[in-house]
Amino acid sequence: KKIVIAVDGYSACGKSSTAKEVASRLGYIYIDTGAMYRAVTLFFIQNYINLTNPKNVEKALDQIHISFKCNPATGTNETYLNGLNVEKEIRRMDVSMKVSEVSALAKVRKAMVEQQRKLGKNKAVVMDGRDIGSFVFPDAELKIFMTADFDVRAERRQRELLEKGEMITFDEVKKNLQHRDAIDTTRSESPLKKADDAYVIDTTKLTMEEQIDQIVRLAEK
Ligand code: C5P
Repeated sequence: KKIVIAVDGYSACGKSSTAKEVASRLGYIYIDTGAMYRAVTLFFIQNYINLTNPKNVEKALDQIHISFKCNPATGTNETYLNGLNVEKEIRRMDVSMKVSEVSALAKVRKAMVEQQRKLGKNKAVVMDGRDIGSFVFPDAELKIFMTADFDVRAERRQRELLEKGEMITFDEVKKNLQHRDAIDTTRSESPLKKADDAYVIDTTKLTMEEQIDQIVRLAEK
């Protein structure tokens, strides 16, 4: 039986929706590591933390407790920051605009990676992120790297945000994805990178059902 399934890739390739469903079909726990970086970012925004001051960042990290709790109505994990459900807030555009700067900080990554390793230790998990297969769990039994054409990613993300009631133009979504891709792939600490032994799934022309099936089939091999 597989234990850790790492699902990495660019923003808005369908990683979360796919990983969530794969976990539910296999009976694994789903862990959204992007949500953890988003929760840290939300805390930094709410408390006006100056990112260029390492002492402030360190002090803030000591005050942050992130956890996941299953919402029985949907059956999926939701993100809690210091005991409060922040699942909605962390998807806001102001958080999306700042999250890559925050997650490029070495101290932030160190704290999150430590928690992620604990969350995945001796458990059957599907973990989605940027550096799970390459850094957090280099020995993961199955590694997936998801990609998709840029415009398709932007269209999908815009639709998702509009459905949630967030008014946003196609250009704004494109700018945010470009901004995050640029920082995520070039930061010095465990940048977004395909692990050598990861399976690449290009979701440009795939339906959600096809993506899920491909991963479930690989997991059952
Ligand atoms: O997955 P999601 O798009 O919600 O992630 C938000 C941001 O968190 C990414 O753009 C990236 O900057 C950061 N992230 C990261 N490492 C991870 C997961 C997310 O740096 N493992």
